[in-house]
Amino acid sequence: MMSYEQRQQHLAQALRNNAGRDIRLSKQTSNLFRNRSTQDQLLDVREFNHVLAIDPDTRVIETEGMVTYEALADTALAYGLMPAVVPQLKSITIGGAVGGIGIESSSFRYGLPHETVLEMDVLLGTGEVICCTPNNEHRDLFFGLANSYGTLGYILRLKIQGIPVKPYVRVTHVHCADSQEFFDRVNEACQGSFDFVDGVVFAPGEYYLVLGEFTDDAPYTSDYSYLQIFYRSIRARSEDYLSVRDYLWRWDTDWFWCSKNLYAQNRLIRRLLGRKRLNSITYQKVMRWNSRVGLTRRLGTLSRRHREVVIQDVDIPLENAPAFLSFFQREIGIRPIWICPARHDGRRGHYPLFPMRDDTLYINFGFWDAVRTDPMHPQGHFNRMIEEKVTDLGGIKSLYSESFYPEKEFWELYGGNTCRLLKDRYDPGHALKDLYQKCVRRQ
Ligand SMILES: Cc1cc2nc3c(=O)[nH]c(=O)nc-3n(C[C@H](O)[C@H](O)[C@H](O)COP(=O)(O)OP(=O)(O)OC[C@H]3O[C@@H](n4cnc5c(N)ncnc54)[C@H](O)[C@@H]3O)c2cc1C
Repeated sequence: MMSYEQRQQHLAQALRNNAGRDIRLSKQTSNLFRNRSTQDQLLDVREFNHVLAIDPDTRVIETEGMVTYEALADTALAYGLMPAVVPQLKSITIGGAVGGIGIESSSFRYGLPHETVLEMDVLLGTGEVICCTPNNEHRDLFFGLANSYGTLGYILRLKIQGIPVKPYVRVTHVHCADSQEFFDRVNEACQGSFDFVDGVVFAPGEYYLVLGEFTDDAPYTSDYSYLQIFYRSIRARSEDYLSVRDYLWRWDTDWFWCSKNLYAQNRLIRRLLGRKRLNSITYQKVMRWNSRVGLTRRLGTLSRRHREVVIQDVDIPLENAPAFLSFFQREIGIRPIWICPARHDGRRGHYPLFPMRDDTLYINFGFWDAVRTDPMHPQGHFNRMIEEKVTDLGGIKSLYSESFYPEKEFWELYGGNTCRLLKDRYDPGHALKDLYQKCVRRQ
């Protein structure tokens, strides 16, 4: 097997050989929800999938950039550790979560995945590989990579912070009938000793907090990786115990709740699919096939109704979370909604392409479905309403899905000036696309 350094050199050469062409990564899986150009030249990075070292004393995990969180967590768990923030879908890679934006129920304590990074090797568009840290001469790139989506370079190796785990997680589900009370309780929980905090809005008046605590012992453990469905358990029981691994992947089996669109919540279909296929990777494959053949699109056209896919994650400062939720329930109406608090600690540094206020608790709202209405609307109508509301309320939207921002507004929100300076320094020949070209729908 080639060493990391040898593979790095091969990849750099492959990039140079494709100079002048539009590039995109070739990986086994992807969690991107916008269609990508089929003309792009593929850069095969699949071999950058090794966990390199884990130090149980310092809790530093060194890994290559295309390692999936499933592999990363499994390796770390064997040492009694986990990455400080583990996104909920098994196939998300560490490079994708840092270059894009990730989040999980430990983010109220440790921030978003990019805030847990200590060092990175980055392949630039020039073919050069540089190492950046929060303190070296490439610190501008270190902080600029979060939310850069491969427009400044590709992350090949990282050192990240790990945290110690116990074998089980005790989960408590707390019901609230009022949204202000719900967000007050989220805030309270984030100041307590819980290890994990997230929640679900099922309907107006049906708000649930999901609180997790590590524990050494469990009277029983539940299994949501086959016939039982995690999100349904939240309403049905007030307490639960999961092994730490099952807790990390509690949302993956049913892609939160989106498996219902593929009828995978039917017990017979679950048995036919089997435990191994009940996961986000299977659903992604079906979704991409559907996107290629246009099945849902055609059925939508036949129904003569407006149908708009609204798959987004947005972060709103806590004080404006009730206002966002009320707007969302009134104007968009998708449910359930996933809720996850995240705190950006300014002492770790500032990430100009995904700016968040220092020491402010943000609430992430995740919603993944389609809106159907009788009146027809221009394409992107509901997504654009959400973008405007998020900006009005001082929030910020992740860019893994479709976006409709006008260019000037986009650059004002996502660090335009810094992006230009970083491009001038690290990709002067513009070998890689810019963030607007990559993330926003061409009008
Ligand atoms: C339905 C849905 C639900 C989601 N839920 C969650 C969630 O619960 N928690 C969460 O944390 N996140 C979630 N995400 C967001 C997800 O973390 C990001 O989309 C992330 O970028 C996906 O990583 P990936 O490894 O699949 O990357 P890909 O989909 O392969 O790539 C995404 C983008 O990142 C760039 N990229 C990938 N690898 C690298 C690298 N090594 N260096 C630089 N750039 C790179 C690519 O160029 C591309 O532009 C969700 C996304 C979707 C679509």
